[in-house]
Amino acid sequence: MTLTLYDNFERRLREFRPLSGNEVGLYTCGPTVYDFQHIGNLRTYLFEDCLKRVLAFNGYRVRHVMNITDVGHLTSDADTGEDKMEKGSRRTGRSAWDIAEEYTQVFREDLAAMNIAEPDVWCKATDHIAEQIAFIEDLGRKGFTYRTSDGVYFDTSRQPDYGYLARLDRAGLEAGKRVELGEKRSLTDFALWKFSAPGEQRQMEWASPWGTGFPGWHIECSAMAQKYLGDYFDIHCGGEDHIPVHHTNEIAQTEARVGTRLANFWMHGYFLTLNNAKMAKSAGEFLRMKSLTDRGYDPLTYRFLCLTAHYRTQMSFSWDAMDAAQTGLERLRRQVFELGPAGAADPEFVERFRAEVNDDLQFPKALALLWEALKSPLPDPAKKATLLAFDACLGLRLAEWRPTVDIIPPEVEALARARLAARQAKNWAESDRLRDAIAALGFAVEDSAGTYKLVKKTSA
Ligand code: AMP
Ligand code: ZN
Repeated sequence: MTLTLYDNFERRLREFRPLSGNEVGLYTCGPTVYDFQHIGNLRTYLFEDCLKRVLAFNGYRVRHVMNITDVGHLTSDADTGEDKMEKGSRRTGRSAWDIAEEYTQVFREDLAAMNIAEPDVWCKATDHIAEQIAFIEDLGRKGFTYRTSDGVYFDTSRQPDYGYLARLDRAGLEAGKRVELGEKRSLTDFALWKFSAPGEQRQMEWASPWGTGFPGWHIECSAMAQKYLGDYFDIHCGGEDHIPVHHTNEIAQTEARVGTRLANFWMHGYFLTLNNAKMAKSAGEFLRMKSLTDRGYDPLTYRFLCLTAHYRTQMSFSWDAMDAAQTGLERLRRQVFELGPAGAADPEFVERFRAEVNDDLQFPKALALLWEALKSPLPDPAKKATLLAFDACLGLRLAEWRPTVDIIPPEVEALARARLAARQAKNWAESDRLRDAIAALGFAVEDSAGTYKLVKKTSA
């Protein structure tokens, strides 16, 4: 069955086939480790995990490389501003190296909690300074670079196709420019190497043929992708914000050096939003995995919630949606468990499931099919095996779940009885207050005709 994926380079759905043999080379832009990753970032890694699972479901072997940005990512995409790592170091009062280590560790724990498989290769920008310098030297020999007083820049005017991925209107950009160009020749030119500012003592800096400094953010991905996956590989992913700048510049560098557009498919996860704004580290409420588990949610509830929205649509986050996802996931787990031992999966359902995920990762439709399979007249052993087969892509750990017998403390039981009385007296305010008091003790109360059920909220 064909696998169709949306390629942002060509802006269309394309049939996917590996460039060679059965192995898929996949590069995904990783975290900048100056802070925790928020749940928006995690949505993008989850999309990439789903992609990997679907590739594996289709019998491909995936070689997945993810970078760790631990230097060079500036607070502004215009190559001005501070290095996020140095800024993070000042914020925390710890060394840039220390925080890189810690945030990488927490990131890996978050991935594990969400059942996101780790890449085959992790690569840190600071471990690949020599490769980045060699890359820039090569670009220089080919005439793509120039120097300013603060660094070495990529000359985008040398590339007629520059910005194709983002369909950038270069002429329009230049005409409408209000921002200071500084010593840059074109607005779209970007830093390959930045010099340490005179008098500044950076924690992360290296000698180079041009002077002491540090690499620009984009060059790390071109250099490391080439090292681990070659000049041209299958799929490159990241969040939608990478389209106009970061991925555009990765393509420019690689095209200048080796003449390829780096990857055959360019795929992007769309944003998680909160209160109609992009979730960002710099603005609004910063929610991370711990913010969810602290409120008693299972990390897989967030995975389940993300699966209900297609990766190419923005998804708005709310606690109500989390509650609904928690209820849905608990129901699903219980029903799957109650099916008993697995037999043989139903081939027809599995093929219908494959058709959904192979249609550009239609997970929301795949989930609908899951509920349909649950309600179908299939015998329990076949049903169970079918759902577990689906879970190879969904990653909800359905096979591992066991019900826990909840021991209800007497004070929780008393609150629930008082709440039932309040409801019978139609005292909704009191009923709500008691529900909150029960929740504060770690329990949820579910109402059903004239009675109630208490369930312990699952925690991490
Ligand atoms: P960063 O640590 O900022 O480099 O971002 C890590 C990954 O998360 C990148 O692939 C970003 O494109 C992606 N990302 C950033 N913000 C969001 C968001 N609100 N929703 C989804 N993905 C995001
Ligand atoms: Zn990147």
